[in-house]
Amino acid sequence: MGASKIMPFEATAIESIPDTVNRCKATFRAQTTKPLSYRLTQLRKLYWGINDYADALVESCKQDLGKPVFETFMAEVDWCKNDIVFVTKNLEKWMKDEAAPDIAFSNSLLNPTIRKEPLGTVLVIGAYNFPVQLQLGPVIGAIAAGCTVVLKPSEVSPATAMVIKNIVEQYLDPDCVAVVNGGVPETTALLNEKWDKIFYTGSAGVGTIIAKKAAETLTPVTLELGGLNPAFITNNADPRLAARRLLWGKLLNAGQVCMSENYIMVEKEILPQFVEQLKIALKEFYPNGQRNSEDYARIVNKRHFQRIKKMLDETRGKILIGGEMDESQNFMEITVVLVEDEHDPVVVDEIFGPIMPILVVDSIESAIRTANSVHSTPLGLYAFGSKAETSKILNEVTSGGASINDAYYHGSIPTLAFGGVGNSGQGAYRGKASFDTFTHRRSVTTTPGWMESLIDVRYPPYAGKLAKM
Ligand code: NAD
Repeated sequence: MGASKIMPFEATAIESIPDTVNRCKATFRAQTTKPLSYRLTQLRKLYWGINDYADALVESCKQDLGKPVFETFMAEVDWCKNDIVFVTKNLEKWMKDEAAPDIAFSNSLLNPTIRKEPLGTVLVIGAYNFPVQLQLGPVIGAIAAGCTVVLKPSEVSPATAMVIKNIVEQYLDPDCVAVVNGGVPETTALLNEKWDKIFYTGSAGVGTIIAKKAAETLTPVTLELGGLNPAFITNNADPRLAARRLLWGKLLNAGQVCMSENYIMVEKEILPQFVEQLKIALKEFYPNGQRNSEDYARIVNKRHFQRIKKMLDETRGKILIGGEMDESQNFMEITVVLVEDEHDPVVVDEIFGPIMPILVVDSIESAIRTANSVHSTPLGLYAFGSKAETSKILNEVTSGGASINDAYYHGSIPTLAFGGVGNSGQGAYRGKASFDTFTHRRSVTTTPGWMESLIDVRYPPYAGKLAKM
């Protein structure tokens, strides 16, 4: 379906929210979503909805973020379709009851079992930077788990939010999945409802608002937040590989990636070669410059453009590469900045844009100390060096996930759970982890009546019974 399908952004009427939520809750209580066949049908319909609307999604991602067509297919359309294929292939296996492991014969008579039960009616709140994947990814997990879902896409990517609403309303059971579009007032109204789980992707600041609100009703949350992701390049690294791979980590979506490296710590000796290789790779990737390339995204809006520009205005570092920008197009070149220390504004705040700060370090030990002082629990970590060096870094700096010899490749493996740790988030999803995050593992035993004489030792009076245990 073509771009003509993209409707102007329209927020959902706040008065309609309670009815929408109650409808989804009633569907859940009616047991509609529990059978495997129902879940598979909804997931397959979603697959075809995404497939049929692929052109509209390409256009909406272009409108929202200037996202290159290749990136929209790779990280949005095909990403979600592949996730659905993987989930539908495995769902029956995941839904099966599990027998309790390693139990004594006497306990096995009670048939101790873990049932996989859907949590109920859940709220998914998405971020703007991957406007398809970050909204529909958790929805895939929720449907697979047998939940009903209300999705609140990011209003910062409004064109895609409208296409997603169309897909959901045309392809899915409206009593099972609903989309509420809007910003803070609509999200606040949604948060005033009682949910069985809230799945939130976005900034740590808003994540704190969500977590506090959820705590009032003891609602469980998954929080997928950002982080000040460190990258390490030791003297034993391959400067060409490190440059190409970390550059890719910044150029994708013009650096608007939660896992993107926020700063790169480079050992002194290898710095000139690394910078040289960055220049070579940039020329190779964008022979006619980034501004003239179809393969480079734009900053999502003026507010974010100004936010990133302010960081560049305030840095005490020296621009080594790039620096060109054009506010009229929200265009910002990849800009490599050599910073003096880890207190620089481009290091201590999440950039979420195409700035690449480089910090020179004397040793791996000092790089590790710096990483742990900037942010003790980043979302991602990227280390280039010898095996012993990268192992040391992995051991001594924690993070939600890590890619050795690469930028955030771990985030693209469909069977690897994706999530943060500490301040970069809690909980995880993708593939089986998406099913698990919306599933309650319910332990159940059934005690046969005939066992009474075997278990009556538990009843008082206890006198003399310890000896029989
Ligand atoms: P954001 O926190 O501004 O918005 C996320 C969602 O929260 C949106 O749907 C928005 O409408 C809603 N929201 C905003 N303010 C709110 C408020 N006051 N009350 C209730 N809801 C509110 O985040 P963003 O700018 O869309 O995304 C960027 C951030 O998200 C970055 O920090 C990035 O690292 C993080 N992120 C994390 C992941 C991950 O998987 N860990 C993925 C993408 C982005």
